[in-house]
Amino acid sequence: MTAPHTLQAPIRADKLARMKPEKIIVASPSAANATPMMAQYWEIKSQYPDCLLFYRMGDFFELFFADAEIASAALNIHLTKRGKHSGEDIPMCGVPVVRAEDYLHKLIAQGHRVAVCEQLENPAEAKKRGGKSVVQRGVVRLVTPGTITEDGLLDVRASNFLTAAYCEPGVGFAHASLDISTGEFLIGSGAEQSAPGEFARLAPSEILLSDEDGETGKAAAQAGFGETAQTPLPRAYFSAMAGEAAMKSALGVGHLDAFGTFSKGELAAAGALLKYVEITQMGKIPAIRPPKKAEAAATMSIDAATRANLEMTRSASGAKGGSLLEAVDRTLTAAGTRELAQRLSAPLIDPAHITARLDAVAAFVERGALRDQIRTSLKRSPDIARALSRLKLGRGGPRDLGLMRDGLTTARDLHGGLASLATQFLDNAPPSEIASIQQRLASASGAASRALGEALADDLPILLRDGGCVRVGFRADLDEARRLSQDGRSVIAGLQMKYVEQTGVKTLKVRHNNVLGYFIETPTSAARALGQPPHDALFQHRQTVSNAMRFATADLTQIEARMAIAAETALVIEAEVFEALASAILAEERELGDLAQALGELDCICALAALAEEQGYARPLVDASCAFHIEGGRHPVVEQALRRARGPAFIGNDCQLGANARLWILTGPNMAGKSTYLRQNAVIAILAQMGSFVPAKAAHIGVLDKLFSRVGASDDLARGRSTFMVEMVETAAILHQATERSLVILDEIGRGTATFDGLSIAWGCLEYLHDVNRCRALFATHYHELTSLPGRLAAAANATMAVKEWKDDIVFLHQVKPGAADRSYGVQVAKLAGLPTAVVDRARVLLTELEARAGRNAPAEALPLFAAAKTAAPETRPNPVADAVAAINPDELTPREALDALYRLKALDAL
Ligand code: ADP
Ligand code: MG
Repeated sequence: MTAPHTLQAPIRADKLARMKPEKIIVASPSAANATPMMAQYWEIKSQYPDCLLFYRMGDFFELFFADAEIASAALNIHLTKRGKHSGEDIPMCGVPVVRAEDYLHKLIAQGHRVAVCEQLENPAEAKKRGGKSVVQRGVVRLVTPGTITEDGLLDVRASNFLTAAYCEPGVGFAHASLDISTGEFLIGSGAEQSAPGEFARLAPSEILLSDEDGETGKAAAQAGFGETAQTPLPRAYFSAMAGEAAMKSALGVGHLDAFGTFSKGELAAAGALLKYVEITQMGKIPAIRPPKKAEAAATMSIDAATRANLEMTRSASGAKGGSLLEAVDRTLTAAGTRELAQRLSAPLIDPAHITARLDAVAAFVERGALRDQIRTSLKRSPDIARALSRLKLGRGGPRDLGLMRDGLTTARDLHGGLASLATQFLDNAPPSEIASIQQRLASASGAASRALGEALADDLPILLRDGGCVRVGFRADLDEARRLSQDGRSVIAGLQMKYVEQTGVKTLKVRHNNVLGYFIETPTSAARALGQPPHDALFQHRQTVSNAMRFATADLTQIEARMAIAAETALVIEAEVFEALASAILAEERELGDLAQALGELDCICALAALAEEQGYARPLVDASCAFHIEGGRHPVVEQALRRARGPAFIGNDCQLGANARLWILTGPNMAGKSTYLRQNAVIAILAQMGSFVPAKAAHIGVLDKLFSRVGASDDLARGRSTFMVEMVETAAILHQATERSLVILDEIGRGTATFDGLSIAWGCLEYLHDVNRCRALFATHYHELTSLPGRLAAAANATMAVKEWKDDIVFLHQVKPGAADRSYGVQVAKLAGLPTAVVDRARVLLTELEARAGRNAPAEALPLFAAAKTAAPETRPNPVADAVAAINPDELTPREALDALYRLKALDAL
């Protein structure tokens, strides 16, 4: 076992507060007066002070002292006590081993870490060492959010990244990320400002940071790690040299060159990551796939706020339902879902690569029957990446072998399906992405698959020691051992008959219990015969119970011993076969990992094709131009929601951004569909660049390097920033980063402050986007004043949402058309919303009056906001405070005079 390491506990103030520290008995290693078992507990616990210690005792994992108090509160389980320590009761709680997964899941989800301490020998072995010996125990594993492998603990359909982040403030960041459950290994780096977007894309479940680097905490906060579990590690773990060595050893290679070149920062991050994996897995190395360089520069940059705003993987409420991912997900396997989620969160920017993906999807759009056939096979395709990983970590069971067997069989079917697809292309050459999948599906030698097919039983037990995982007929010695153990019963039944004949005692029976094992029983009345010659030579008396006597015979004892040995032998042989099969699989770890990846890709591509057909999506043209032409675009989530609700059909809308109109100013009443329209165009770009068909009649998109989407006045109370501050911080980020290749979506920016501030800010932003960023942009606003801008900005244009007025009501047509909204229809919308009639009527009167006044004063050329400022100012009445303030000249005042002035102003104001 590796030497114990202690890791600093993640600091979570909220959790500490809930723990009520004064009630906790501090763990003291002074175990002088403790029982031998408690002494052992202290010794182990002292090595893992930051973890809850799951201490195995028979069929339970027990927790003691502070751990028990924390766990009983977190799991809502009964807190009891067991014995005393230093005169105080020892708090204890426990969870049954068979249900440990559920409880682990809850604890991990609440941010706890758990050290699992197992019995390393059985009690009988301990007894052999002497009466008072304690069963040997040791921690076999640390369970943290980023290191779990059990399907019961994981979201089967999402990646579970453990990410080591190496931040050099002012320079940049690097990360190494590993999904231990699948072996997916990503390494990347980038400029400091792209860190938040990159981490938002990875969405790790645990982040490893250096504890010494004072700036790291700040970097983490900026990166918006918020909810993610953060684990501080010693600075020394972030060593590039150690990282390089660890990578070579984990990947089993002498050089890393084949995988690309890695910067010092990247190697340092990889070093910390692999060190942490080694510590938590007690030296076992998971099945790590060759590292993929996650080049921030090769994917569309989408920051965290944009991802949230577009509800890419989670809806605004944080749920998966209602997200873009859910709306476009037609995958059938867990690996396929993970692949789709990854593609969606990292759209590409190389038109050639995007086109290659689209070619593959198109091939399956055009061949529905073959696609359905492939999807039928995929439905039977298990999650072999995760099974492989469990086997590698020594946590696999017979059913993981079963998953591998079924997965390999399906892979063979699928390979056949793809081969028949290939014949439909010139020179048998299907699109490159499909060819690559086909090749990887055949990369495993077939040896493992054959071995599994021959050796593994059809129905598999959960645990190896339950027996029965090896097929009958696979090994003669196993069959013999099983026959001896299982057929022992009939042998014994035969003995019973023999003894009845021999003794003439018809009531003689062979029975079994856990204390005596097999024995012979007769009613007391008949027992006398057995205790007398000649039978007393054969039957030894064992026990007298009411109405019956029990005997043993040499034959019976011998058969029983043989049966026990045979059962044991059978289990030993099964374990041997299991190990051999596991080794056969791990011998092809790399190929099987490739195969699992290929299955995920195939599922993803077929799912995108199925989606395109089901929803009537079109293949987009993606190139290096600056075009953004969408014909009849729709919002996939809103469209499907309307259909599910059997509401009106979604109205498709065009969007034509180009050299002469890169920037559209969109006006229209509330509820007319502005926000939906803005977002649908962003979503269409994401889908196109991830290599999917898009919800539109046609689309031509010049690749976007960055995508920004912001909505005004969104509250961010969690981070303690004012609404308006958030809006401005995010807008500033866009103005600093957007390039000529970017798309910027601004939805009612400037709403979070007073009208004239807001209007001025919106105005300034528009000018800047137009003149400096020169990006493509859609800008929805309720400031009608802004519609005069296209007159002055060459590449700006107005668009509006069509509405129809009918009597005093308003009907939304959800159609985007050129031009500006004539007015805001706020009163009509308010009426629709059910405001009392009196209020609506009064508002109408006021509006007419206000509009009349504004009309009188509006100058033709001046900035409308200043015009508005003039007209909207109420009639002036004398204001003594203002006059007094005007009279003060701060430069001429002594401190004493300043104070007097203040008192004077206060007094005036009170009047
Ligand atoms: P706005 O931002 O202008 O206030 P939204 O974009 O929030 O309006 O849209 C309001 C509602 O109108 C949406 O929830 C949706 O149900 C409906 N809607 C929007 N666009 C369309 C469309 N193109 N076709 C049909 N319904 C639409
Ligand atoms: Mg809106």
